[in-house]
Amino acid sequence: DTIGADLDRAVARFGDREALVDLPTGRRWTYAEFDRAVREVALGLLARGVAQGDRVGIWAVNCAEWMLVQYATARLGAVMVNINPAYRVHELRYVLRQAGISVLVASTAHKTSDYRGMVAQVRADCPQLRDVVYIGDPSWDGLIADGAGVAPERLAEREAGLSCDDPVNIQYTSGTTGFPKGATLSHHNILNNGYFVGETLGYTHQDRICVPVPFYHCFGMVMGNLAATSHGACIVIPAPSFDPAATLAAVAGERCTSLYGVPTMFIAELELPDFDAYDLSSLRTGIMAGSPCPVEVMKRVVDRMHMAGVSICYGMTETSPVSTQTRRDDDLERRTGTVGRVLPHIEVKVVDPATGITVPRGTSGELCTRGYSVMLGYWDQPERTAEVIDAARWMHTGDLAVMREDGYVQIVGRIKDMIIRGGENVYPREIEEFLHTHPKIADVQVVGVPDEKYGEEILACVILRDPAEPLTRDELARYCEGRLAYYKVPRHLRIMESFPMTVSGKVRKVELREEGARVLG
Ligand code: ATP
Ligand code: MG
Repeated sequence: DTIGADLDRAVARFGDREALVDLPTGRRWTYAEFDRAVREVALGLLARGVAQGDRVGIWAVNCAEWMLVQYATARLGAVMVNINPAYRVHELRYVLRQAGISVLVASTAHKTSDYRGMVAQVRADCPQLRDVVYIGDPSWDGLIADGAGVAPERLAEREAGLSCDDPVNIQYTSGTTGFPKGATLSHHNILNNGYFVGETLGYTHQDRICVPVPFYHCFGMVMGNLAATSHGACIVIPAPSFDPAATLAAVAGERCTSLYGVPTMFIAELELPDFDAYDLSSLRTGIMAGSPCPVEVMKRVVDRMHMAGVSICYGMTETSPVSTQTRRDDDLERRTGTVGRVLPHIEVKVVDPATGITVPRGTSGELCTRGYSVMLGYWDQPERTAEVIDAARWMHTGDLAVMREDGYVQIVGRIKDMIIRGGENVYPREIEEFLHTHPKIADVQVVGVPDEKYGEEILACVILRDPAEPLTRDELARYCEGRLAYYKVPRHLRIMESFPMTVSGKVRKVELREEGARVLG
């Protein structure tokens, strides 16, 4: 189905139920009201000449209008391009040009980002950009006013001509390993994925989902928004960008049943000095995804945040995004030690990256996935698409994984992150898991740095629980002794206050590696 058809169904079944709560502005919409607002925006874009297949950019922090634009562009058959709110002029110019964006909807400003000022700087270089609309600005009211002059039948006619295999969305990958690529996704890709993620969590119209992760990324817009609307659940926006206190306040105040986050966000929430003051008893489930979820963190989330049903998802932008997910009745071992099993209608296999031959269960290799969820391709980059999707439509993920006997998948690391120390393959993930058990360590990232003797040496970048209680390299080495193989013990230690992050909250290991090499070299 198309996303518009799915929203029609939600309106018919749950019209008077709450669909969206935008806490920063205190606005609320039922499904019927939400759809009316979506149609106003769609008609506005129609009035501005947005044709089927045109790219409409959204460059905004989390707010209700983000979601309105998501569903309005889907109804119009336009292709929404998610632009990372942390981008600066250089990246904005690249995306506007690469995706050929003709209409841009943007926030005016947030924290250190002056979106309006940055758009002004790139406009001359982007002749195809006809129109810019700012949220919470007279230009937004102008868009809605123009739409009021368009006959609603024109929208219905447009929708009748759409197919679920049409592209609806371009999402740039996180850029963890290099320059982001624009994954082009169809209605069928992302609507199904959102639906199945919601099914696995057991969502119904009773659920209220707190989404502190950015909408710009598939975690927010697919696993959040599309999972919610395909089940009649409600999205709660706690803040424009991640704020741990606002997140817990939103859960408590709105009696949310589900909470999302990447591991670092859950850590920040758990470390709040007044953590115990928030009533989180309404939570039953949630999703932790995006990067490896340390077992210690999972245990604290389950015990202290009432999230017995918290689920881990594994996936990537190119696969809409989720491929495997833990189930509600999985025990803690499966829930903490694996990324779950494959979702319905998706295939996975683990192959030897050198030969492409499937390896036996229990052996690590490159994870490949196939099914409805695999993207149409990278926008306007057929050669790069061919590098990752083979002739049989298998997507090669670049992630190292093990398929266990019981069908549960473990992510061992990324092919690009693997450290080769003196000929031994070392997976940072395993060392990070272990170091998370150290009482002084709040968060840790392990990377390889160049070393004359061993090729690469292991660097642990550590954020301390309490800066007043320092940690030395010798102390760390003693802690590892006898518990980690000698070649996995970090040779170097860097104490940091924070890690370089992508806006989706993922640690940029490339940067840690480069910085580490600089500091140590
Ligand atoms: P880029 O492709 O631009 O370098 P990226 O791969 O980080 O960036 P995303 O598509 O946002 O961009 O992230 C997908 C990757 O995130 C996966 O390939 C995998 O390495 C990692 N990942 C996602 N979920 C999990 C998980 N549950 N456990 C471990 N790793 C995960
Ligand atoms: Mg990737």
